[in-house]
Amino acid sequence: MRRTAALLPRAVPLLLLAGSAAAAPPRPAPECVRTHEEAITRARTRGKLIFLTVIVDHDHENRAVVENVFRDKEFLKIAEEFVCVYANSEDQHGKVKMKGPDGKQALRCADCPSIECTDHTELAYNWSRGFFPESEARTPIHFVINAKEELVDTIKNGDFKAGFNHVPAAEVVARLKALLQKHGKGLTEEEYKRMEELLVEAKAARARGLVTLELQKLLPVVQLGKDIEGVRGAQARVAEIDKDAAKVLADAEVLVARGGVEEALEALASVAATYPGTLSAAAAEKDAKDLKGRPEVARLLKARDLHGEGLRLKEKGKPDLARKKFEACARIYADTKYGELSKKELEGLPAGEQR
Ligand SMILES: [Zn+2]
Repeated sequence: MRRTAALLPRAVPLLLLAGSAAAAPPRPAPECVRTHEEAITRARTRGKLIFLTVIVDHDHENRAVVENVFRDKEFLKIAEEFVCVYANSEDQHGKVKMKGPDGKQALRCADCPSIECTDHTELAYNWSRGFFPESEARTPIHFVINAKEELVDTIKNGDFKAGFNHVPAAEVVARLKALLQKHGKGLTEEEYKRMEELLVEAKAARARGLVTLELQKLLPVVQLGKDIEGVRGAQARVAEIDKDAAKVLADAEVLVARGGVEEALEALASVAATYPGTLSAAAAEKDAKDLKGRPEVARLLKARDLHGEGLRLKEKGKPDLARKKFEACARIYADTKYGELSKKELEGLPAGEQR
């Protein structure tokens, strides 16, 4: 039977409809927020859409939303991906015992145990009215709203003139799945908590001037890739740091241009290590790779390695083995500074056994 909010008698014994037992154990219902401000904040910070259900009592089709849709397992699962809001202008649903956020027992609405009846009456009288076409507040109906409070979808079964029947759970689920696919999932509470922790840690690192650590905290937030406050803030800060990194990179590139190969490579490596995840770090890594790809640079680096092996062996007290390395370096890379250095080392070494 289709009813409208306006036509409903107010004197029906509601306790009979809702079950009058005080403090009965809670029945399944989506986790709902208590105020519209909370709904907007959650939607904005988690990147979720708001699923607003508006019903009245003492009508079978309206009550079917609580009795059928709210108890449906598939619905309850997908409802977790949305910020759920329950609006009902009546307040005689009976009470259930719940653990409140402070850990103490609290008496909550039997329809929706995460909130109190005063919450959903307030939501019905104020916020939810704004989503109906002018003066046509007919129920049951579900509105899907974004964080800017724009109407994204209306899930209803009927029309505003004749009134509505309830939308079966399976259809609500299908519609919500389609919306989720189009808009993408938001953050779970766990992901949100982790993001907040990372942002706090990034801030602390910034206060201590530890730019590398700050980037290490910001990058996982950026990688969430969501169009939400926390991610946008992290993206903006990384871009700001990248401006500083670009200056350091420019200095390193001057060294490359001047031909100071080793100095340049060191400066480029420092940009990559200091500013991980920035565009400048990626550019520095590419510059270094290009530089190392030049034949004369590759040759110089090989000479350096060979000379370095000689030095290590000498330090370990193995002059004969060191001599072999220095001799090879002086011979093969005579035209490089390491060839020269190896030659000098040979002069300083005690005479070999075979000599
Ligand atoms: Zn209630």
